[in-house]
Amino acid sequence: MDSKILFYENLEDKIRCRVCPHNCFIDEGKFGVCKLRTVKNGEPLAINYGEVTSLSVDPIEKKPLYHYKPSKDILSIGSFGCNMTCSFCQNYEISQNRPATEFISVEKLISIIPTIENNVGVAFTYNEPMMWYEYMYDASKKIKEHNKDTSVVVVTNGYINEEPLSALLPYVDAMNIDLKGYTNKYYNKVCGAKLEPVLETIKRCNDHCHVEITTLLVTDENDSLEEAGEIAKFIASVNENIPLHLSRYFPKYKMDNEATNIEKITVAQKEAKKYLKYVYIGNVGGVDNNTYCSKCGALLVRRDGYSTEVCIKGGRCEVCGEEIYIVM
Ligand code: SF4
Repeated sequence: MDSKILFYENLEDKIRCRVCPHNCFIDEGKFGVCKLRTVKNGEPLAINYGEVTSLSVDPIEKKPLYHYKPSKDILSIGSFGCNMTCSFCQNYEISQNRPATEFISVEKLISIIPTIENNVGVAFTYNEPMMWYEYMYDASKKIKEHNKDTSVVVVTNGYINEEPLSALLPYVDAMNIDLKGYTNKYYNKVCGAKLEPVLETIKRCNDHCHVEITTLLVTDENDSLEEAGEIAKFIASVNENIPLHLSRYFPKYKMDNEATNIEKITVAQKEAKKYLKYVYIGNVGGVDNNTYCSKCGALLVRRDGYSTEVCIKGGRCEVCGEEIYIVM
């Protein structure tokens, strides 16, 4: 259903949307870059409030979040639409198109949460949740008012303006943010966006909630050793504890480059580990994705696919006492 856009400016004969860094000028009857925000009879509206394309229960490791409530599940919900146009999009059916939806009110969503076993809360994911901002904001706020112990997780491309992000963050516990590459050229050419706003989002989120980062390494586009090092150095400048997930790309949507060479990903992981304490590999079977203490090397969390065994009780290594960036 339609709902009023929460961040915009009224101009003489149009509006300027202020939700994301595209800052689109929108005329009556036209849409912004996301194809979700429009002006109808002078009213600035988002068209996807409560419109759900996917609702399921996933292991939290699938978001991916490896250092937030490991071994728990999370109710995962998504709508349609995105403010990027990544050529390799793995979810293009819901990010770039308008598929069938089912309306789920915030109240209905809240009522589902406690009925699921081993569930820690709600993850806004699948499509770009910041493009579902009006619903996600209302839902996150009400979820926390209803029960502050329910986790709110956001899996995002990080392309959001400061004001809406700051309004949302008090209700968010954890985020996985894509850092898709480390050049504006890549963000422009492959994703239809800019790098700098994403870096700003990562810094702001690190001040407010648990953060993990995902980078999809795309063959011949952003899979150089130098770029992996730049990404890791930037993250370390924010917080060297932030876990980085280096994921393997497979051809999809408009991108037909070969799947990423696994050897290149392991070399990139080694490079990133020079700067960061926790670097994992995604979309590759049979690799060691356990968490070890960065000081003494003790095993903290054992992972085999989405099967997870937690070997520590609190936020410290039980062998050497090192504080671990993990929320249990
Ligand atoms: S959310 Fe972003 S892409 Fe969509 S209309 Fe607003 S500024 Fe444009």
